[in-house]
Amino acid sequence: MTLSVSPHDRAVFQESLADFLPDDIVDVHAHVWLRAFATGPTPMVRGAQWALAVADEQTPEVLADTYAALFPGRRVTPVLFGWPERYIDIAANNAWVAAQARQQSAPALCVSLPETPAETLDAIVQAGGFIGLKPYLEFAPRHLGPDEISSFDFLPRAHLEIASQRGWIIMLHLPRSRRLGDPLNLAQLVEIEQTYPGVQLIVAHLGRAYCPEDLGDAVAVLRRTERLAFDFSANTNAWVMTELLRTVGASRVLFGSDLPITRMRLRRECRQGTYVNLVPPGLYADVDADPHLVEVGAAETESLTFFLYEELLAMRQAVTTLRLPATAVEAIFATNARAMVARAHRSR
Ligand SMILES: [Zn+2]
Repeated sequence: MTLSVSPHDRAVFQESLADFLPDDIVDVHAHVWLRAFATGPTPMVRGAQWALAVADEQTPEVLADTYAALFPGRRVTPVLFGWPERYIDIAANNAWVAAQARQQSAPALCVSLPETPAETLDAIVQAGGFIGLKPYLEFAPRHLGPDEISSFDFLPRAHLEIASQRGWIIMLHLPRSRRLGDPLNLAQLVEIEQTYPGVQLIVAHLGRAYCPEDLGDAVAVLRRTERLAFDFSANTNAWVMTELLRTVGASRVLFGSDLPITRMRLRRECRQGTYVNLVPPGLYADVDADPHLVEVGAAETESLTFFLYEELLAMRQAVTTLRLPATAVEAIFATNARAMVARAHRSR
């Protein structure tokens, strides 16, 4: 599916993003996979349902085309990883990502299954030239309910142990309905930082704190941490971004796109503490079945732009609120990620 960029989208970029984004950008959160890796219909999906409506594959070439369309005049380097779902042949996806990453000299993470023994995982990572792991809650034991899962159910301590020795990056999508503010999530983040000092942990989507209520006591807890990093992929909440930047500083916040998901057109609102994606009518199936999707009318549709642009506009607002200098913007969009990738390469 080629991306159609409207005059309105172009105006958003030219008027609000062109003077904000640096020339060189690293995207720490990009999924690449082929629909051929799907092994059958999905037996269970724990993640957000609406995300599946956007794309059923993304090659590095399509990703590069998307960057060219959405970031005109910028050079964007991705950190690649597969599509972490149970209906995907993960071994095949990982092997393909490794080959693609080698071809493009791009860094890549290995999608990790919790049941894989640490020595086996180490061998897969070394053979594939990966610089870290992408675990996902979908791979937690099937009998666990959404609020019974903890991060260690899909990112076992044995994997953290080897990751710490190797200096790997780990891209962690937090489980549980209270998101970043969940006390167990916060306690385990602190435990990972203290017990596995070599791990370079990136908490994806700012811990899924899409609304102010999702922060809970995160600010008080995270203020005492030193290394945990956060990507703001698929997050459009400027207030949350401001709080996180204030708490951990620009050196621990990184740009991630979560493409292809953020190719979607939407505007996100918080209603009673829950996020709602306002989307164009008829574009994404199953709107009625999903409490997070609401279709807007024709007039409002005109004002919708890409999810990715909404994410970037929110970061711009946070940076403006905090009056961060250009060096901080460069850190968020490139230098923080480069330093982490370099550290992972060095310690291998
Ligand atoms: Zn993702």
